[in-house]
Amino acid sequence: MQTSGTGRPATLLALNPAAGYIVSCEIGVGFVEVLVTDFAPKAIWQIKEPVKPGTTQAEILDRVLALLHEAVKWGKSSADTLLGIAVGIPGMVDHVSGNILFAPNLKWRNVPLLALLENESFGAPIYVDNEANMAALGEHYFGAAQEYSEILYLSGNVGLGGGFLSNGKLRRGASGMAAEYGHMTVDTHGELCNCGNYGCWETKVSQNSLYKKIINKVESGESSILVEKTQRKWERLSVEMIVEAAQAGDQVAVRSLEEIGYSLGVGIASLLNALNPEIVVLGGILSIASEFLFPVVNEEIQKRALQWNRESVKVVRAAHGSDACVKGGTATVYQSILSQAKLPR
Ligand SMILES: [Zn+2]
Repeated sequence: MQTSGTGRPATLLALNPAAGYIVSCEIGVGFVEVLVTDFAPKAIWQIKEPVKPGTTQAEILDRVLALLHEAVKWGKSSADTLLGIAVGIPGMVDHVSGNILFAPNLKWRNVPLLALLENESFGAPIYVDNEANMAALGEHYFGAAQEYSEILYLSGNVGLGGGFLSNGKLRRGASGMAAEYGHMTVDTHGELCNCGNYGCWETKVSQNSLYKKIINKVESGESSILVEKTQRKWERLSVEMIVEAAQAGDQVAVRSLEEIGYSLGVGIASLLNALNPEIVVLGGILSIASEFLFPVVNEEIQKRALQWNRESVKVVRAAHGSDACVKGGTATVYQSILSQAKLPR
C-alpha cells in the first residue's frame, strides 16, 4: 500500500465502493450540512439545512443527531458497514478528547461533542475536528491540492479558518490548536475580534468585514447598485450579490473586494515566509470572489514575500466551495483507514 505524503494515495482508486459508507457533517454558523458517501466516494445523500438565528446550542445538537441517524439509514441502503463519522466545527477542538474548546462565531465553549456522539452508539469511529483542518484534508484527497504535500488552506466565511498540511499530514501543533491563522494579530490597534483579541486577521478578511466595508462606503454617501438591491436592509447582503455588483462595474463593490484582497495578500505573504507551502488553496468566500481578490493577493505576495518562498508557490481556488468541510470529513475517515492499514475490500 502506498500512502506516501506526495499526493493522493494511489490505492484509493482501486477500492471497492461497496466496502462501506462514510458520514460527514459540518456544524456551521447558520447551517448544518451532512453528506453520506460510499467508499468510491460517491455521494449517496446530502442535505444542508439553515439554522435560524437564536436557535439554542441544545436545539442545534439535537438536530445534528437526528440528521446523523437519518444519514446512517441512507448509508445502509448502499453498504453494510459504517466506516466512520466525521464532524467539523468552526473553532478550536481538542483533537484527542473531541471536546469543542471554543467556537467564537457559534459562541460555544467546552462542548463534549465526541462524548455526545459516542452516546448514540453508531458503532463506528467518530472524528471531531476544526472545519478548516477537515477542508484542507479534503482538498488534498479530492480537490485542488491532490498532487501536493505542503499545502496551506485558508477559508473565508463568517470568520477566517486555516489548515496546513506538511508531507500530506495535518500539522496540529503541540495541543492541536495550530493553524488558527485567522487570529494572528495584524493590527495592534484594530477591531475587537470574536475571540476577545483586537486586530485579528479575520477582522479584516471575512464575510463580515466585507459587509462592513460596503455599508461604510454607502453610508458615507457613495453610490452603489447594492442600495437598490438591498433597499438598505443590509441583512440581505450576500457575497454572491457583491461579486455580481462588482462584475457589473460597481465601484463600491470592486474597491471593497480589493481591500479584502489587500489584507488577505499581506497575511499570505507572511505565511509563505513562515510555512513555505507549495500551494495555497483559498476556499469559502475567498473562492467565490477570486476574480477580484486574486490579482491583489498576487501583487502583495510579489511585493512582500521572500523571493524563494514566492517563486514556487501557486495560489488557487478550492475545488469544493461550500462543501469543502464535508468532503474533508470523508477524507478524514479515509486517512484514518489508510493509516491503520486495514483496508476494506
Ligand atoms: Zn481573533
